[in-house]
Amino acid sequence: SRIGRFGDILEDLSVIQKMTVITTSSVVMSWLVILVYDRVATAFGSTGATGTTWVIGTITPLVVAPVVSAYFVHLMQELRNARDLARTLSITDVLTGVFNRRHFMAQVETEFAKAKRYKLAMSVIMLDIDHFKSVNDKHGHSAGDDVLVGVSSMIAKCLRDADVLARYGGEEFIVLLPQTDGHEAMVVAERIRQEVETLEVLPEVGPRIAVTASLGVAAIREDTDTLATILKHADAALYQVKTSGRNQSALAN
Ligand code: GH3
Ligand code: MG
Ligand code: MG
Repeated sequence: SRIGRFGDILEDLSVIQKMTVITTSSVVMSWLVILVYDRVATAFGSTGATGTTWVIGTITPLVVAPVVSAYFVHLMQELRNARDLARTLSITDVLTGVFNRRHFMAQVETEFAKAKRYKLAMSVIMLDIDHFKSVNDKHGHSAGDDVLVGVSSMIAKCLRDADVLARYGGEEFIVLLPQTDGHEAMVVAERIRQEVETLEVLPEVGPRIAVTASLGVAAIREDTDTLATILKHADAALYQVKTSGRNQSALAN
């Protein structure tokens, strides 16, 4: 809408600039109204705008507009903050602060389309914490939460800017590695696995909670026609690790 577009222009200005623009426009509008009134009144033979009309018509918007605009500028700022917060919350996992599954799926879909089109490499790492249920059982849910937060930051440490890390489910994380082939992704997966082993989460009593993770890696191939295929392959590789001892990484074949 036209008002919306005016709002967009205002948005880039500072508070003082916004108030100046709004106040100046109010005064000019007021003058236009007086001018029209003056023309119409004179045309019908009555007295037009007097000096007093002009003084009141200038002072009133000059006083009212800054107050009202300050209020609206404040509202606009609140609205923008709320919108930014809503945007952040809608793509973030509340506990760990990494992206959520929904955002991951949107990102990976875009990246997959790009990779297919330009014949680029692309990999996915799926990570599942080993025997996580027993961490909760032994140390409590809140210690379990600390482990989830710790693991997510260990993973993040091993990634590049272009990589996308998300919490895929309860104690499962997923990483998208654009322009990375399976062997390169395996190197990253192994680095993550080793980092997770060093995680220092202390329970209320006793020594640190030792955790390990299993990782399944899959890369885009000539015959990979859908995104679901890669995810399925990563999941299968992860399952293979789970059934053959855990705390390892496997590349889907
Ligand atoms: P495996 O090695 O086969 O993966 O065993 P596991 O115990 O890790 O796997 P399982 O799927 O049996 O258990 C996952 C547990 O993760 C169960 C669930 O209570 C716990 N969990 C899921 N989400 C959260 C969470 O947000 N916080 C905590 N503390 N625990 C969670
Ligand atoms: Mg699991
Ligand atoms: Mg698990």
